[in-house]
Amino acid sequence: MSLFKPDYYVSSYRKIDIDRLKQAGIRLLLCDIDNTLMAYNEKVPNQKVIAFIEKVKASGITVALCSNATKKRAYRFGEDLHVSQVYYLSCKPMPFRFWKAVKDHHCQKNEVAILGDQLFTDVLGGNLAGIYVILTAPISKVDRSTTKFTRKFENFVFRRLAKKGFQKGVYDD
Ligand SMILES: [Mg+2]
Repeated sequence: MSLFKPDYYVSSYRKIDIDRLKQAGIRLLLCDIDNTLMAYNEKVPNQKVIAFIEKVKASGITVALCSNATKKRAYRFGEDLHVSQVYYLSCKPMPFRFWKAVKDHHCQKNEVAILGDQLFTDVLGGNLAGIYVILTAPISKVDRSTTKFTRKFENFVFRRLAKKGFQKGVYDD
């Protein structure tokens, strides 16, 4: 169960305390796209996302995108954000893209964080890769059809985690 436990749990990317990341030694923030930074029915980042990415970069933390989405969708989203890399079709929870990002950015694993909304892709993948994990509540209740299926299992895992003191919806922010 500990593989499903994030290091930091927020209600929204906008609630992330960047100082907390700096104190944890984070130098690279990998962001999931769908339902983390935008809803499935959106295609380009809104002003709030742009402002958040700028704020993180201004703090000295590099930002890259790490999504299971297609190249087209991931690149279109990343176009105006000026991030260092756009990793698409990442096959999360497989840890390989995370390790590639660690290597590409000349970081140590413990200097890299993943921000995402799903236990089975972002949290599990991040923990398997040995990086810092930030879980956010999903932006929208509407999910891709494949995600709808995994959300059911997610609730099962959340119930198990609750027995270990980690409560769904009880955020660190
Ligand atoms: Mg997502």
